[in-house]
Amino acid sequence: MQTLLPQVSLGLINFNSHLETLAFIVAALLFILALAGLSKQESAQRGNWFGVAGMAIALVSVLWIAISQDDKNAPLTAVLIIIALVIGAVVGLYKAKNVEMTGMPELIAMLHSFVGFAAVLVGYNSFLALPGENSPENAFHMGEVGLAVFIGAVTLTGSIIAYLKLSAKINGAPWMLPAHNIVNVVIILVSIGLMVWLGYSRGVSGGIAPLILITVLALVLGITLVMAIGGGDMPVVVSMLNSYSGWAAAMAGFTLGNDLLIITGALVGSSGAYLSYVMCQAMNRSFISVILGGFGDAPVSGEQKDYGEHTETTPAEVAELLSNASKVLITPGYGMAQANAQHAVASLTQKLRDKGVDVEFGIHPVAGRLPGHMNVLLAEANVPYDIVLEMDELEDVFPIEDCDVVLVIGANDTVNPAAEEEGSPISGMPVIKVWNAKKVIVFKRSMGNAGYAGVQNPLFFKENTDMLLGDAKKSVEDIAAAINDD
Ligand code: NDP
Repeated sequence: MQTLLPQVSLGLINFNSHLETLAFIVAALLFILALAGLSKQESAQRGNWFGVAGMAIALVSVLWIAISQDDKNAPLTAVLIIIALVIGAVVGLYKAKNVEMTGMPELIAMLHSFVGFAAVLVGYNSFLALPGENSPENAFHMGEVGLAVFIGAVTLTGSIIAYLKLSAKINGAPWMLPAHNIVNVVIILVSIGLMVWLGYSRGVSGGIAPLILITVLALVLGITLVMAIGGGDMPVVVSMLNSYSGWAAAMAGFTLGNDLLIITGALVGSSGAYLSYVMCQAMNRSFISVILGGFGDAPVSGEQKDYGEHTETTPAEVAELLSNASKVLITPGYGMAQANAQHAVASLTQKLRDKGVDVEFGIHPVAGRLPGHMNVLLAEANVPYDIVLEMDELEDVFPIEDCDVVLVIGANDTVNPAAEEEGSPISGMPVIKVWNAKKVIVFKRSMGNAGYAGVQNPLFFKENTDMLLGDAKKSVEDIAAAINDD
């Protein structure tokens, strides 16, 4: 009997490790399916559920690992994990239920900072848990710890600065140190040297100095990197920090020896990197030039050109125009989110389609304040997916030249012809050329404000453009009310 016991417990450990591997593989597959699902509007909800299922399996398996450890502190560890889970779930549910769609980008930036902070904490924990050892393996592990803390700390402060910029709590314009790029390169090189020092250090007392120095330098780098980026480049910052948070999680996975965290982190890191690439393409900019920063710091406000007088219209006039149109394009932008006008826009669309008007949506990749912002809003308002076109599809499927009317609902930078002029801060960014339509109606609250990049928009002064000033939701509702049902 006595000889059997170790075999039974060995068998249990083997069973647990097989179960853990199986759970991790299933969770990783579900995360991959989640990403695949989220890439299309039709399958986004299903993708979300795959992600939820993967995360549930991951959490249960981590809890199971904690409980089944041959350690007298296992029950306490399990209780602490459950308490942390409950607190996190309550805060997460509360935030998800209460966040305004316009507050999503800031929330996401804030969540990225949590991932960075967690990676820093995991790194420090791992460092403190391995004092005194001096084997080559330990040296490698210490290098991992240094890298995890470095990426985590850059993500932490970078995301906080992005949060402050996106929520307009600090000025969104680029701010650069003198010799900004040299300072950043020096910080990175010194940090690599410190990681080597950390790898060769002995115990906590020997390694704490390089680790603290790495942390401080990385915290500064996060600030200088994101402070230097402004104007229309902010979409890349959001996706770039998304990517960093993934790599920070993957590094935390290395330090914890948790394969699932490594896989999940790598998935988030690489998909975020790809999204940054897509965003850069959408803005016709190279990733390196965005990271180097400084875009959007041209003095725009002082040298506003005189584009002449604008003309204004009324909801009743727009209703008449739409009733007589056969092809209508709607290009929404951040103002639609701001006004929470998506449901009103969806019912106006339905009303026009019921009258036989061909209505389609043209979505710019950086419209709004987060990737896919407009698609999410239109899906929420049940606008059929097949009439929501990406900017690149317009030319083939719904040429703007053939449109009788374009409704620009709270968009500005994404429809700004100044992007085609030399010397403008948004020069070279592809925009939706709405001015090629027969008539353009721009929904905006006042003539005073520029778009996100702070650039004056000559579209508003073109002969075929009329401004419909006022809150977009009210304007759209008034138009719908003025359209006869017959
Ligand atoms: P913009 O931010 O350029 O312009 C928004 C327009 O909406 C303004 O003209 C504003 O004018 C109007 N507006 C605001 N509130 C209302 C309202 N309640 N009713 C009617 N109109 C309103 O929008 P775009 O979507 O065209 O461009 C997005 C910009 O944001 C780009 O520069 C992009 O680079 C940047 N960005 C995008 C991110 C992304 O991931 N998509 C992330 C971060 C930045 P007024 O105030 O006068 O009403």
